Amino acid sequence: MTTRYRRAALLTAAVYLSCTALPVVSAHAQDEMIRQTLGARDGWADGTDGGSKADAANIYTVSNRQELLDALQAGGKPDLPKIIQIKGTINLSVDDDNNELTEKDYADPAYDFEAYKAAYAPAVWNVRLTDKQRPERDLIGPQEEARQRSAENQKKRIVIRVTSNTTIIGLGNDAKIVKGNLFIGDGTENVIIRNIIFEDAFDYFPAWDPGDSWSLNKDYPGCEAAYVNADTGPQKCPGGRWNSEYDSISINGGKKVWLDHNTFTDGERPDKLFPPVFPFPHNQVEQKVQHHDGQVDITNGADFVTLTYNHFLNHDKTSLIGGSDSLTSDEGKLNVTFRGNWFENAGQRMPRVRFGKVHSYNNYFSGDASGAPDASLSVLENHERGISQSKGIPIFRSAFGIGKGSAIYSENNFFEINNGGIRNAGNIQGGTRFFDAGSLVNGEAADFATVLNADPKKPISSDVGWKPTLYGKQPIPAKDVPDYVKANAGAGKL
Ligand code: CA
Ligand code: CA
Repeated sequence: MTTRYRRAALLTAAVYLSCTALPVVSAHAQDEMIRQTLGARDGWADGTDGGSKADAANIYTVSNRQELLDALQAGGKPDLPKIIQIKGTINLSVDDDNNELTEKDYADPAYDFEAYKAAYAPAVWNVRLTDKQRPERDLIGPQEEARQRSAENQKKRIVIRVTSNTTIIGLGNDAKIVKGNLFIGDGTENVIIRNIIFEDAFDYFPAWDPGDSWSLNKDYPGCEAAYVNADTGPQKCPGGRWNSEYDSISINGGKKVWLDHNTFTDGERPDKLFPPVFPFPHNQVEQKVQHHDGQVDITNGADFVTLTYNHFLNHDKTSLIGGSDSLTSDEGKLNVTFRGNWFENAGQRMPRVRFGKVHSYNNYFSGDASGAPDASLSVLENHERGISQSKGIPIFRSAFGIGKGSAIYSENNFFEINNGGIRNAGNIQGGTRFFDAGSLVNGEAADFATVLNADPKKPISSDVGWKPTLYGKQPIPAKDVPDYVKANAGAGKL
């Protein structure tokens, strides 16, 4: 090639690259990026290398659900190291021709939401209590059966099982996975997920649980254990919740998982669009027809997980670690590190922990607690307060949920809780231990030891029985965390 032609060719290449949406990176730099592994000793997932050792034949670029499913099978050897690059938006709620499927496509012919509501309305269903002095929680009848069949139809499409030794990474700054769930199940190990916007893992068929958070609370007018008439009886007691099935990412038994630089949101369907169905006393802010579950839930024996620089945005139930107090098989597992993540306008579970040894440092928590429950008020007063003060964004109720057997070790975190304070930063939910050093809440040193021991019946020890050793980066002072995290957290910042 002559110099003149070579220059022209280079010019063409430069113009081409500058016109694409992707940042201009050399093939070498791109290859290094997609093969990146978790840094040495960077939290509990230490040693996770995902698909970094993939052969060239097992590097895929996918832009729809079917291509993603095919890539995960790596030509029939799903455990081979593989790198799956996500290009543009992948909608998981689609048919095989990539046409979107919605409620009407999944709904069983017998399912009718109006009939469902009529059958299980508290005024109908709650008039009798079980021996346990609660409404029966297992709904029976043709509408619940039809709902379950409908939900099963949706689940078959939108739940995608991730395979072992896999890196899934977004290309550029606009890679999205929407309207579905990535499931990292028992037996799956060594997974890296980076630089992806996860949006709206929407459940079209949420279930009403009449006994969830239900209480025989006599502050409520007419609340009585025995049915007397339409105005007096168990149907006038508070409680019952709508529950949804899908998280954006479920680490459900999987091990060695690194989640890095992802953004999690409800997209265009935040729960505020779906108000509670049943009238007072079933209109608490928590009783919206919640169509989303967690953003990243870690349950059922999952272990060795590190989350770095993720952005959790405008969502209620952010991250559940451990699904049940009775699952004692989780003891010794559920070990998770959170470093450099941003919880922005999240409601609760940042994370809520059972059993796990969780290290949380240099994370940034920002939100508004207007309407959050106040321990000095009654259930009824808190109910009214929540309704009147809610601003239509998830109410920042509780960051750390200190659950049964949990051992959270918090360091140098930064909380900015408008209309709230340290009482919203930690919440005792069956646990007995919590450690913090160096965190700030609304500019002041976080004195968790005092606030968590306000109730002498629920003492909290600062001896959590372990000390982290896996520091991928040394902690920075809490006061520097907001700028640091805003600059680094979320998709599009690799
Ligand atoms: Ca749930
Ligand atoms: Ca979940």
